[in-house]
Amino acid sequence: MVGAGAGGCVAAARLFDAGCEVHLFEAGEVSETNTSPHLAESTSRTDLIDGSVFASTYTGGFRYPYLRGRALGGTTAINALVQMWGTKDDWDAWSAVHGCTGWNWRSVSAEIALLGFPSHFASASETGPVTRAVLAAARGMGAGEARQVGETSDGAGSVALSLREGRRADAFSVFITPRVLEDAGRMIVHVGEPVEEIAVEADRARGVVVGDEEFIADGVVLAAGTVWSPILLRRSGVSRAGIGRNLKDHPAISLWLRLRDGVDTAPASLDVTGLVVASSVDDSDINLLPVDPNQLVVAVTKVSSVGHVVEVDGTAEVVLGTIETHDDATRMLAALRLAADLCATKEFGAVVESVSIDAAGTALAALLAHDDETVISYVRRQPGAYSHAVGTCRMGVERDSDAVVDNAGAVFGVDGLWVADASVFPDIPRAATQLPVMAVAGRIASGIAERLR
Ligand SMILES: Cc1cc2nc3c(=O)[nH]c(=O)nc-3n(C[C@H](O)[C@H](O)[C@H](O)COP(=O)(O)OP(=O)(O)OC[C@H]3O[C@@H](n4cnc5c(N)ncnc54)[C@H](O)[C@@H]3O)c2cc1C
Repeated sequence: MVGAGAGGCVAAARLFDAGCEVHLFEAGEVSETNTSPHLAESTSRTDLIDGSVFASTYTGGFRYPYLRGRALGGTTAINALVQMWGTKDDWDAWSAVHGCTGWNWRSVSAEIALLGFPSHFASASETGPVTRAVLAAARGMGAGEARQVGETSDGAGSVALSLREGRRADAFSVFITPRVLEDAGRMIVHVGEPVEEIAVEADRARGVVVGDEEFIADGVVLAAGTVWSPILLRRSGVSRAGIGRNLKDHPAISLWLRLRDGVDTAPASLDVTGLVVASSVDDSDINLLPVDPNQLVVAVTKVSSVGHVVEVDGTAEVVLGTIETHDDATRMLAALRLAADLCATKEFGAVVESVSIDAAGTALAALLAHDDETVISYVRRQPGAYSHAVGTCRMGVERDSDAVVDNAGAVFGVDGLWVADASVFPDIPRAATQLPVMAVAGRIASGIAERLR
């Protein structure tokens, strides 16, 4: 097992439960993940973040660190805790559009329910002032109640968070720690041991290479995430054309909020608990999500633009397709205008004094005063994504050269090698990705367990 992130931990646990001896290799060296529920605090913990991943867009602009977790729990050790299941339409498209037989809303939602991942809805007293203001403003604008479980529906409402007794629930502590305690001889975790490549011989995975040593195994499951899984496949000599391509992330812009004097942002309050979902080109393709008391993320969740990832001298270079297509640009314009309308409401204004789009303090209204082309060009250059990248080893049928794995997660052309992480998604769901990744990895691992039995 390569990678102890969202997918890797679920897959490792599933194989362990099926009776396998599991060796879980994790590049990160931090053995105690951050338990803070607050994104700002957790992302400042540089020891949990992969410093060798960078992003840029086709249009130029900044090259900037692209956040990925490198720790036990992977990106679930640093993410914003928000839980969404994706919409029924998106999951049904896996089989109906992408040819991934057996993958649809029914099979995936059953798998998410099976995970039993800790889930917490903030009470009114836990909810922070910005979230309260955003939800009140959205209601004032006519938004109904949004349900985040499997329906394409617009509205505003609370989202569930990955919290257990007030602390971050990451994939490692939930899925792996109990199994290590149950049988440390069968769930063996190799911390701070990056896998260099998969040892492939005569079209069969023989094991993994770690440092100078080769570790022999009956099968290898790659779960190094959307950025590193394709790079490891390339390093290992796997040659499907789609490796590293088809990368999709939700384009996003952060609005920076200056709160009015006297607004109470008690440390105990959670400002990542309210979500506004709206429609522009497609149903429910816009999210407005406060992620801390000073930041409101404006994101597009239905995406047609694609990017890619390549390795350059040991670093991973992600090129994001940020709103390259006309549809995506139209969606982003609609999202920004919706955000501007929301920011102009009296409910929001009672809490937030000013809203800017960059560190220089440029007002959102000033950006939107420009013509559409200028706004689009600005957004294309921004270092902004919702951080939900998928698709670089995407699932599909063998005759499609862009597909890298089959619908069981098995890599085309190499026996005994599977991928079980966000990289296998044939398309990005209209959702934050941690629960979807865990569900997909769980299903793939159940299939592997059947085969190895
Ligand atoms: C800042 C941020 C906020 C986010 N917020 C949310 C949110 O609120 N809700 C949500 O649902 N999703 C969120 N996400 C996305 C979500 O966390 C990811 O989609 C999910 O964790 C991806 O799972 P994964 O298994 O594909 O990869 P990861 O969880 O990234 O795990 C990959 C693991 O593989 C390890 N690895 C890489 N290379 C090697 C190697 N060579 N050898 C060994 N190990 C290796 C990495 O160190 C890492 O631990 C967020 C992401 C980011 C970056």
